Amino acid sequence: MTVFCTRCGAPLPGAPPVRCAACAYETYVNARPTASLIVTNDRGEFLAVRRAREPQIGLWETPGGFCDGWEEPAAAAVREGVEELGVEVRLGGFVGMYIGTYLFQDEPLPVLDCFWFATLPPDAPVVLDPAEATEMAWFSLVEPPGMAFSTMDRALADAVALLCRKDQPTE
Ligand SMILES: [Zn+2]
Repeated sequence: MTVFCTRCGAPLPGAPPVRCAACAYETYVNARPTASLIVTNDRGEFLAVRRAREPQIGLWETPGGFCDGWEEPAAAAVREGVEELGVEVRLGGFVGMYIGTYLFQDEPLPVLDCFWFATLPPDAPVVLDPAEATEMAWFSLVEPPGMAFSTMDRALADAVALLCRKDQPTE
């Protein structure tokens, strides 16, 4: 696939990172940050929603999405909770960040998927955005279903490890 200079439109001599031979503009491909929520309850479960759109339509995912421009990832995580779950979650500790692939406009993009623990506010019903998710369910953290993106599988495994560590007596 030929890649073109976004500044002058000339075909680039190779795949990024590359310098345009015509105008010297440098093109890089960097992972785009996303922010996601591992919403837990006191039964050792997490909240998953079923994707309503491509890519990976119909598969389970943790609520989340792309960070906008200069938006702080933690703020993006809370915003995505409002948009996808209809509630303002209480953000907990950071779980981790992982490089993944997201197919967008027929192009595989590198993404940096960032995950936080979160809890639902008491007595606030979750209202899904039907454009984002068709249903929700609670799953055991230690036996999660296969998730839409492998970064979610990794984050859930790390979440369990973090929670187990927290349960250890501190001496
Ligand atoms: Zn150029």
